[in-house]
Amino acid sequence: MTYDIVILGGGITGLAAALKASESGLRTLVIEKDSETGGIWRSVQHDGFTFDLGVHGLYAAKPANEEVVAFIRGLAQNRFVLTEKKTKILFKGRLLNYPLVASEFFTAYGMEGFLWATTLLFARAKLLIAGNRGMRSFRDYVVGNFGSLLYRIYFEPYVKKVWGVDPALLSLEALARRVRRIRVREFIWTWIKKRFHPGGSEAYEGLQPARFLYPREGAGHIVEAIRERAAGHGAEFLLRAQAETVSGGPDGYWLTVRAPEGTRQVRARHVISTIPLPELLQLLHPEAPADIEALRRGLRYRGMRMLCLLLDMERVFDAQWIYFQGNEFAFSRINEFKNLSEAFAPRGQTSLAVEFNCDPGEPLWSLEDGPLTERTLAELSRCPLPHADMAGKLLGSFSVPVEHAYPIMRTETQGILDEAKRRLARFPNLYSIGRQGDFGYLNGDECVAMAFKTVEGIKGKEDRRTRGLEDRQEDIERRA
Ligand SMILES: Cc1cc2nc3c(=O)[nH]c(=O)nc-3n(C[C@H](O)[C@H](O)[C@H](O)COP(=O)(O)OP(=O)(O)OC[C@H]3O[C@@H](n4cnc5c(N)ncnc54)[C@H](O)[C@@H]3O)c2cc1C
Repeated sequence: MTYDIVILGGGITGLAAALKASESGLRTLVIEKDSETGGIWRSVQHDGFTFDLGVHGLYAAKPANEEVVAFIRGLAQNRFVLTEKKTKILFKGRLLNYPLVASEFFTAYGMEGFLWATTLLFARAKLLIAGNRGMRSFRDYVVGNFGSLLYRIYFEPYVKKVWGVDPALLSLEALARRVRRIRVREFIWTWIKKRFHPGGSEAYEGLQPARFLYPREGAGHIVEAIRERAAGHGAEFLLRAQAETVSGGPDGYWLTVRAPEGTRQVRARHVISTIPLPELLQLLHPEAPADIEALRRGLRYRGMRMLCLLLDMERVFDAQWIYFQGNEFAFSRINEFKNLSEAFAPRGQTSLAVEFNCDPGEPLWSLEDGPLTERTLAELSRCPLPHADMAGKLLGSFSVPVEHAYPIMRTETQGILDEAKRRLARFPNLYSIGRQGDFGYLNGDECVAMAFKTVEGIKGKEDRRTRGLEDRQEDIERRA
């Protein structure tokens, strides 16, 4: 089996690469270990309910990606709803709007809130004058933006719960991605733009914009549309399959692939890997295993387990998602998808997706669905949600594990990542891309843009190679 491109992993990055490659006339094979494609971007269907693996809004993380977003919209036939972001946090027994508004502290918590609001405003004023130069860790960033009191009582426990790492050890650049020095003029200008054109400038802050498109029938609709188009252009898919070794060099690669039908050898001129970078490092031959093991250990991901609750009730709350800080609750966020699009649940019913940040081997990861559901319903009943009493309304529950939800970027990770990428550079025509492959906090649009760019580069190389071969042939014929 010989291909121009073999793609490891069939998430949105792998599928986008397959689409571009097959459209360009390159013979393409996607190897996906799961029984279906889509990766984190897929939707799970259950008894008429749809669950996305985390909220998956479509928006351009930077201006250059507007074109990619427009392309995806067209491909998914514009089946989107335009929604205003509505997020809340549960803090000290009350639900507050997020991003935090200083005035709300006072109305919600009285004098104690007044003290927090004062420290918040003081921190912002200091930031305006001194800027954020010198901030290194996520802790520095939060203390600088919100003050040390709010850091201690709110952000520290929340970040520890989500990442399983002390915020002082998390890299600021990698998480916040676009941390700029804030200047007074810029601050005022941004405020005016936000005030009179909500959702505009915010779209490029690397955070979710105030207004975004949501796939009406679930994020999975997008990846299905990409896969169908790629298959229509001849891309092949091998599901429940994994590469066991990848060996070769400039002239191409041999992959040993384990699939349900047996193990086979696949030859590829180019390999695009979108699987977790540490897994790819392990597949490469020849390599020094001891060396690789140290790099692998330094590149870790945070997992997420999503508990899906199917409920026989109209609504649970009025936001799209709520963050839960503190150890009183085992989960860190709950999403009510119906508040994004009515199509996520049958009429008169709703659902909750409850996110637990945990890793394989931890008790929360391996707890059976039944006890996890009971525990979650008990914790939810203590929350001041508009309709917290879900007892007797539960139609069913199940959970979905996402082992590689977030790459963990500690302050020392960038150095390890640079070393891993130097190793990969020894393998020409092998590209590790996407959220898992690049080991970056990338959004879907960025993954698609990266996939397109990689395939364009490959196509250019292949065209040059073909021209070179033709020239050589002509030369031989002329001499003959
Ligand atoms: C909770 C959460 C919320 C998010 N919200 C948004 C959002 O609102 N908007 C947005 O744009 N982005 C969002 N993202 C980011 C988005 O999900 C990712 O950028 C995108 O899904 C990454 O796609 P990928 O193809 O690079 O990786 P993945 O989706 O992880 O795909 C990798 C694929 O490789 C397969 N695989 C793994 N190992 C192997 C192997 N050894 N052999 C073969 N196959 C293998 C996996 O099964 C998977 O299908 C969110 C992410 C999370 C975790």
